[in-house]
Amino acid sequence: MITDLHTHSYYSDGVFSPAEVVLKAQKAGVQMLALTDHDTTQGLSEASDTAKKLGIQLVKGVELSATWRGNTIHIVALGIDENNPALQQVLEYHQQLREQRAQNIAIFLEKKKVENPLEKVKELAPFMITRTHFARMLVAEKVCFTMNEVFRKYLSDENKTVQTNWRDMADIIRIIKDAKGVSVLAHPLRYKISKAQLKVLVQEFSQANGTGIEHITARTNDNQINYIMGLAHQNNLFLSSGSDFHGDNKFVSIGGIKHLNHPHNIWQQL
Ligand code: AMP
Ligand code: MN
Ligand code: MN
Ligand code: MN
Repeated sequence: MITDLHTHSYYSDGVFSPAEVVLKAQKAGVQMLALTDHDTTQGLSEASDTAKKLGIQLVKGVELSATWRGNTIHIVALGIDENNPALQQVLEYHQQLREQRAQNIAIFLEKKKVENPLEKVKELAPFMITRTHFARMLVAEKVCFTMNEVFRKYLSDENKTVQTNWRDMADIIRIIKDAKGVSVLAHPLRYKISKAQLKVLVQEFSQANGTGIEHITARTNDNQINYIMGLAHQNNLFLSSGSDFHGDNKFVSIGGIKHLNHPHNIWQQL
């Protein structure tokens, strides 16, 4: 089974429409695709319509921001009922936090001598302003050479202007479960926490009724995959994989991840 359970459209920080994302997935031979935009389900109906026409299975998803012990983490929710009121309420709350944060980031950038950052970023962000849009804008403005440089110098998780009090991990997992979805801990090796802290995070994620963990994302190597599979096994978590496709990185393609068959694949739960 060729699956890709983590992708973005332009309703969050991807560059393509949901229909384009689904078409690209179908062309790449993906049989089961999840659209998982950050803190919004706006793209799901379009994705679902296109998937029906093209004969590929669409899993309704969303990538929720959450706070765990003061750190921002990402939870990929799969198989959700997007009309669930409590789910929509938390998404709206997170969208408000994002708007407030975008204004604060703009003020911060003005102090760094960037002119009219809010106006400029809005031109690149039709629906939601994310850090990705600020990074694209600062590269376009030649303030930095790469997005990576922007995140390192201006938009890191350690920057007080960036830090946001999202709803707590355990609340988010409960809300996802109530909306009939399963929770997957996204890209566990991308958080700036120690191996010891990661172990605690995975334990607490599982104890809070989390269902899965992403063992494969773009550019994970075999050692990393095996390490996460070990953590999954110790904590009774299913394994999920997805490209985290945004469309702006030539090294990341939809469906372009390793596909491993094992009995604990999360797609068997969907
Ligand atoms: P936000 O959800 O607005 O805080 O933005 C987080 C997003 O920024 C992630 O989902 C990635 O798409 C993007 N991102 C984070 N770090 C980097 C990086 N070093 N280079 C490029 N994109 C990044
Ligand atoms: Mn993103
Ligand atoms: Mn993420
Ligand atoms: Mn993502």
